[in-house]
Amino acid sequence: MAAERMVVIGGDAAGMSAASQARRMKGPEALEIVAFERGHFTSFSACGIPYWVSGDVTDRDDLIARTPQEHRERAIDLRTRTEVMEIDVAGQRVLARDLSDGSESWTGFDKLVIATGARPVRPALPAIDAPGVHGVQTLDDGQALLDTLAGTRGRHAVVVGAGYIGVEMAEALLKRGYEVTVVHQDEQPMATLDPDMGRLVHEAMDGMGITTVGGAPVTKVLTGEDGRVRAVATEDAEYPADVVVLGIGVVPETSLARAAGLPLGPHGGLLTDQSMRVRGHENIWAGGDCVEVLDLVSGTTRHLALGTHANKHGQIIGANAGGGYATFPGVVGTAVSKVCDLEIARTGLREKDARRAGLQFVTATIESTNTAGYYPGAALMTVKMLAERRTGRLLGVQIVGREGSGKRVDIAAVALTAGMTVERMTTLDLGYAPPFSPVWDPVLVAARKATTAVRAAGM
Ligand SMILES: Cc1cc2nc3c(=O)[nH]c(=O)nc-3n(C[C@H](O)[C@H](O)[C@H](O)COP(=O)(O)OP(=O)(O)OC[C@H]3O[C@@H](n4cnc5c(N)ncnc54)[C@H](O)[C@@H]3O)c2cc1C
Repeated sequence: MAAERMVVIGGDAAGMSAASQARRMKGPEALEIVAFERGHFTSFSACGIPYWVSGDVTDRDDLIARTPQEHRERAIDLRTRTEVMEIDVAGQRVLARDLSDGSESWTGFDKLVIATGARPVRPALPAIDAPGVHGVQTLDDGQALLDTLAGTRGRHAVVVGAGYIGVEMAEALLKRGYEVTVVHQDEQPMATLDPDMGRLVHEAMDGMGITTVGGAPVTKVLTGEDGRVRAVATEDAEYPADVVVLGIGVVPETSLARAAGLPLGPHGGLLTDQSMRVRGHENIWAGGDCVEVLDLVSGTTRHLALGTHANKHGQIIGANAGGGYATFPGVVGTAVSKVCDLEIARTGLREKDARRAGLQFVTATIESTNTAGYYPGAALMTVKMLAERRTGRLLGVQIVGREGSGKRVDIAAVALTAGMTVERMTTLDLGYAPPFSPVWDPVLVAARKATTAVRAAGM
């Protein structure tokens, strides 16, 4: 019997995890795997780009988990610099263009995996493509930025956007010796937090010497006589810039899927069932940044472009496409990042998410220390907790603090997944020793305060 053919579109986290897992499940005699990637690289960590740009990671290749050649050695027919131009769902084939010579050809599939990732938002502003303006989505982007930094005599950097990529890039440029200004349109940086917690990030960034300008959408990029960027303008001001980094967010890259008539959700991502099969299509799977995921707390679908999900999706797709069985139940929305020594984390719902979901809730915010208060180096951390009114169900947690603060959010992620109440959380058996936490861990202190607030709110 001839081998079935699985075609994968996209050669990074979701696509190559799917291909690798399917290969573990089935040998080449049973399953041929053809993967198309329009870039040069496969299985790379975009998450590491800020630390490569900062100089903390010195070798680009350390960010590559598996090269195209290593995939080929595992019997995956990997075609780099090859872009899929069209999906013919009824004909079970894809049209691919070899970007080196422009030639095009159709490849048939029995199984298709769509893992096309996300596209960075790049507003149509004057001179947005001027030399010196950079995105940081791919390793090529990272290299281009490093080349600009190496060739730039000036010392002013502007980061547009203050999400986690924006603040991580602000740190990277600060470490490179730039005067950094972060210009963003929200009230506070890190709009994935509530504004009261974002304010703490703002204040900490001020203390690090990073200027943040909020409520200020960029209106244009200004260039000098040499055509290079020289400043970024908002409605009210101009900010000098020898280099600009864009971190304004991403949208699902689903243009091929849309043209093929595949189902998309309200955020533009592909809709799948729990086995990551595209809804209504037995032999097509999708995962990673191009899909919408079920938010287990609000019950709605969201677009959450995170590598942690992309890798899991890929593995689940590979298991299913390889003849096994695996499911992805959904997410609680956990994310952690940092700017210099400030750690920032969140899981579950913010106040506005909870309101949008029609939930009534109480909040509790506490300040504590990351270690026992008397332990050398003890530093402040703030925990904000949301709990549902009446039931006391945990709805969300946000944490801002110094070393050891951020990953504490994982306690809350587990509690959310388990559907715990904040009262139940107060008795969690967490580890304690003075170098790691106060005797009452800050998450437990927040849970105690939230429990009191739930009781006070009554029925
Ligand atoms: C600077 C930065 C920092 C990040 N930090 C974190 C972090 O700390 N934690 C975290 O969880 N996540 C982080 N992420 C997000 C994470 O990198 C992504 O969620 C993850 O890479 C998504 O994997 P993916 O396979 O779905 O998509 P992608 O990594 O975008 O891969 C999709 C691939 O498909 C290819 N492709 C698209 N269309 C076609 C086509 N038509 N034909 C052929 N190939 C195509 C693209 O070239 C691309 O290589 C970060 C991202 C960036 C940019």
